[in-house]
Amino acid sequence: MSIAYREEHDMFRKSVRKFLQKEVVPYFKDWYKERQVPREIWMKFGSQGFLCPWLPEEYGGADLGFESSVIVSEELAKADADIAFSLHSDVVVPYIAAYGNEEQKQRWLPGCASGELLTAIAMTEPGTGSDLAGIETTAVKDGSDYIINGQKLFITNGWDCDLAIVVCKTGNSPKQHHNLSILVIEEGTSGFIKAKKMEKMGRHTEGTAELVFEDCRVPQSNRLGEEGKGFYYLMEKLQQERLVAALGALTAAEKMFEEGLEYAKTRKAFGQPIGKFQHNSFKLAEMATEIEIGRTFFQELVNEHIEGKDIVNKVSMAKWWISEMANRVAYDSLQLHGGYGYMEEYPISRQYQNVRVDTIFAGTTEIMKSIIAKNLGL
Ligand SMILES: Cc1cc2nc3c(=O)[nH]c(=O)nc-3n(C[C@H](O)[C@H](O)[C@H](O)COP(=O)(O)OP(=O)(O)OC[C@H]3O[C@@H](n4cnc5c(N)ncnc54)[C@H](O)[C@@H]3O)c2cc1C
Repeated sequence: MSIAYREEHDMFRKSVRKFLQKEVVPYFKDWYKERQVPREIWMKFGSQGFLCPWLPEEYGGADLGFESSVIVSEELAKADADIAFSLHSDVVVPYIAAYGNEEQKQRWLPGCASGELLTAIAMTEPGTGSDLAGIETTAVKDGSDYIINGQKLFITNGWDCDLAIVVCKTGNSPKQHHNLSILVIEEGTSGFIKAKKMEKMGRHTEGTAELVFEDCRVPQSNRLGEEGKGFYYLMEKLQQERLVAALGALTAAEKMFEEGLEYAKTRKAFGQPIGKFQHNSFKLAEMATEIEIGRTFFQELVNEHIEGKDIVNKVSMAKWWISEMANRVAYDSLQLHGGYGYMEEYPISRQYQNVRVDTIFAGTTEIMKSIIAKNLGL
């Protein structure tokens, strides 16, 4: 079933596409080499209404629903520009919108929509990633503040963020799930240290950081929602995070397939286009089939998500299967490119590196299968 876009969504898509062609595509290669997207581009993207377009108008959004998030991701992939707009708009900001009180929403959301406030979410630590309940960064009450100590790793947008949504341990209950709370920590807060921009195999524009908190004092009024409810908030929001991750993998697969197909039609060997060899044509047929299956499933999930249904189990299926599928497509499309595929000037070389992490972040393939297995009563 396709997604029921409205007329305003079609207009929105056209504007996003036009903007990316003019403001991003001509410069993206340089940014990727420099490993930094200019801050200005976030502001421009925001000023056009492309950041958090789903937010209600009173907070600076355009009330365009989750459909608009899908559009932005799809257009970014088509433009072959991997900038972590979706992580900000569709993964982090929803925490403020869902669990922030009115004062917090007024304080932060308009800046998130305009691009003045760039956000990151900090869950993972050196000792814990999949096992979120084991988080050790502590937030201890002191008067009307919390004092935070700990370390977070692999934080996307962490290097450039103005607001970090940080998951901290605020209790010592033997029931670990009751111990977590979510605090918003603002850039410039004493003891909030952006310790290192991490070197990665791909996704060089995403400013992945190690964050350190050393006696970092944050007012209790920066806590989102209730103390001790953090783990439950994370579980609620992971449905959309994993849907967004599945979308990223799907759109990457579509782009890589398109490039493989084009190359197979134009590159000649032994006097004919390489796509004429049955092995290669079958590989492309397999990719086209898997992508179609992924897209059909994804669109069904988007519709159910928009209807407000609990689709945690199906999203777990989509997250692992589509991200693994995208990695198969990356491998096969690069193989079709021969030696050129290994060269940086060919987009497939970068896309191959970028898509590798899709089976790891936002919950690994194994964790997704554990969720599905649990729901099977195993
Ligand atoms: C580029 C990048 C960006 C990221 N962005 C963010 C971010 O913005 N914010 C953030 O908080 N985190 C972020 N992460 C962290 C990411 O979410 C974690 O790396 C991921 O959840 C896995 O955790 P881990 O690395 O600690 O691996 P571990 O949890 O140590 O897992 C190691 C291996 O063991 C497997 N494993 C673990 N438990 C089980 C189990 N129960 N059954 C079977 N197998 C299991 C895993 O599947 C994996 O294969 C990012 C990571 C990367 C690489």
